[in-house]
Amino acid sequence: MSEQNPGGAPGGSPGGSNGGGPPRPGGGFHRRRRGRRFGRGGPPRPGQRPQGQPEAGGEGQLPAALPPPPAAREDGLVLVDTHCHLADAAFDRDRRAVVERAHAQGVAFMLSVGSDAESSRKTIDVAGSFRGVYAAVGIHPHEVKGIDNKTLPAIASMASHSRVVAVGEIGLDYYRNNSPQKAQRHWFREQVRLAVKAGKPVIVHCRDAGEDVHAILAEEKVWRAGGVVHCFTGDAELAKKFLALDLHLGAAGPLAFDDGQALQEVFAQVPIERVLVETDSPYLAPPPMRGKRNEPALAYQVAETLARIHGLSTGEAARITTSNARRLFGIGPERKGGSLAYAHEGRLYLNITNRCQNACYYCGLLSDRVFKGHDLTLPSEPAEEPGAAAILEAAGDPSGYGEVVFSGFGEPTLRLDVLAEVARGLREKGAKRIRLVTNGLGSRTAGYDIVPELRGVLDAVSVSLQAATPEAYAKVCKTQGIENPYPSVKDFVRSARLHFPEVEVTAVRMPGIDIAACEKVAREELGVPFRAREYVLTD
Ligand code: SF4
Repeated sequence: MSEQNPGGAPGGSPGGSNGGGPPRPGGGFHRRRRGRRFGRGGPPRPGQRPQGQPEAGGEGQLPAALPPPPAAREDGLVLVDTHCHLADAAFDRDRRAVVERAHAQGVAFMLSVGSDAESSRKTIDVAGSFRGVYAAVGIHPHEVKGIDNKTLPAIASMASHSRVVAVGEIGLDYYRNNSPQKAQRHWFREQVRLAVKAGKPVIVHCRDAGEDVHAILAEEKVWRAGGVVHCFTGDAELAKKFLALDLHLGAAGPLAFDDGQALQEVFAQVPIERVLVETDSPYLAPPPMRGKRNEPALAYQVAETLARIHGLSTGEAARITTSNARRLFGIGPERKGGSLAYAHEGRLYLNITNRCQNACYYCGLLSDRVFKGHDLTLPSEPAEEPGAAAILEAAGDPSGYGEVVFSGFGEPTLRLDVLAEVARGLREKGAKRIRLVTNGLGSRTAGYDIVPELRGVLDAVSVSLQAATPEAYAKVCKTQGIENPYPSVKDFVRSARLHFPEVEVTAVRMPGIDIAACEKVAREELGVPFRAREYVLTD
């Protein structure tokens, strides 16, 4: 039984909104695009260094020694810089050194993004030249005024290249209006269609054009391709609207700026499972390099800020955002699979099976089986599932956790013997409190009341009810091979009340789940406390 609800389903929303227009912390961080940060005079042409852009080795060039990594950085940290412009002329003199510095800092993967046909071609060449570098191709809104009848076919052809994993940078920019707005909207829509047809996610530029960007993405059903609104600097309301389209939000250098507090407050409300780390280099360098040339090696400064906002370690933020990049773009380290135990917010979670009687429509079990960057994929064959000894070894010393919870992508009571043996072993090792999260179908599957067997083994049980009627339960949980399962869940709760010191009924706040009705059943019919669980975070 999963107590987690990885933020992957359309319709998910961060809580709250600060309303109004895009935040401009200090009025200063809002995004550059050519001609701002690196000087005036409009966008640079391919091969032309933007005005004010430092030359390699000149003023503003990164020093030979990068700033020291964040103190919280963990060994083995692997980051994906999901948005950089390695084909930019700013890197012409030292591109290889830039990529090597990124690798040395743990930024093992980079997605280099094109902005017109020529830079897209160059980006593919760059991606083909370096380990861990991939490409996105597309026409930036500033450049759409130069599109002719050969441009989009060329981008479509490039999009099929094996090293190309996305279509971008595309979108709308009503701040600079370097191309007429009508042309911007037309070519943005055409490129979204191209991405959907190519089956590649979009990388979206959105500046002072949130409503129109959202409208086009919604009308073109962008969720068929997926994508990211890169370097997101909008408000919480706009973030919520993009998340509802199943899009990700890109976090870049401005998040780490000293005047980035308003943006940090927005990102605090965005599930980190929907956030991608990016540098947008050579632009928007985070502190302590602000104002200088940016490069992918500085992606971990963004990850560190994200970690602080979400109360995670830098390693956790890296693991989760790297997992997000792999899910969206298919790039990143190989999945290892098989995490049996993982810590989160002072609790130790045990993942002992991926089998489940249900197929809840929102469950990560049915998609990527990743939670907080931990790959919880286990063998589907019972004979190949890990034994109690392996689970206990993975759990390590449980005495330092406030609680040990049996809760992964699967239903723990399907492995009743292993569950009991592991729980007893944990108790001997000093576990303070042991809780089972279950769908309550264990007794029905076993053909007898299993609850007495777990008496004395567990301290608490959380039963996921999810519905107030058999019909609603069938719609949400889609139980396989069990006729009319809902009454059996309630019977499980009634039995649990007799045998465990603590029993609660829960339901997840998701579309189609009537929380008030579930609470009524729990409290009035079953006589147990009720807890509504949030969309993303477990507790
Ligand atoms: S499908 Fe199974 S593991 Fe996933 S949420 Fe539903 S009951 Fe839990």
